[in-house]
Amino acid sequence: MQFHVITLFPDLVGSYLSESILARAIKEKKIKVSFYNPRDFVKPNKSQKGKEKPYLRVDEKPYGGGPGMVMQAEPVVKAIEKAFKKTQQKVKKTKIVFFSPAGKQFDTAYAKTAAKKYTDIILICGRYEGVDARIKKIFKMEDVSIGPFVLTGGEIPAMILIDSIARQVEGVLGNFDSREEERIASHDVYTRPEVFTYKGKDYKVPKVLLSGNHKKIDEWRAKGI
Ligand code: SAM
Repeated sequence: MQFHVITLFPDLVGSYLSESILARAIKEKKIKVSFYNPRDFVKPNKSQKGKEKPYLRVDEKPYGGGPGMVMQAEPVVKAIEKAFKKTQQKVKKTKIVFFSPAGKQFDTAYAKTAAKKYTDIILICGRYEGVDARIKKIFKMEDVSIGPFVLTGGEIPAMILIDSIARQVEGVLGNFDSREEERIASHDVYTRPEVFTYKGKDYKVPKVLLSGNHKKIDEWRAKGI
């Protein structure tokens, strides 16, 4: 599975992928993550010519007025084109995700389908007031939300989708069938010691978990989901 992240802040996402399970999955080539910064597809404007570090503008004021700025279409379109060149060029096997608080709610079912159906997923991380909507007329893409709230950028949603979809790729988790999504896994978990004493009070592990009766344990766990 190849993820192609279009973002103004690649290091934000890169740092999350540099540790633990996802770092190992990348090292073992179970998944690949590439970054495309729209700023790399912008030429300095006249006022910036000759400056050592020219400011590369990727945003402009919104049409129709209102606060904030909007990410311009062209740099994002160029980044998508570059990402598309690196995919296996099979349109049917490539999904483009446009992060938006108003999008389709992401969930495990979405992750499973994506992992099964696609070889490449292009993730468009907006910033400011969002990205010029005309890019959705140029490329077929789906608006995806990670929940009913507004974040400052699409980078956390990108990390969430990479994490959750990567878990559905065989070999990323030690034991593929150990995914919580595939078994009766209560959200409350316990481990040693059997009795944990805190400020003179004993906190015990639920007896059923010590019974060895796996039918009863599954019933108990199923109640906790
Ligand atoms: N005005 C935009 C709108 O209503 O769609 C929101 C812009 S938001 C401040 C900046 C970016 O963060 C969005 O373009 C999107 O990429 C991302 N974002 C914010 N909240 C999100 C959410 N709940 N799910 C997915 N992406 C989100």
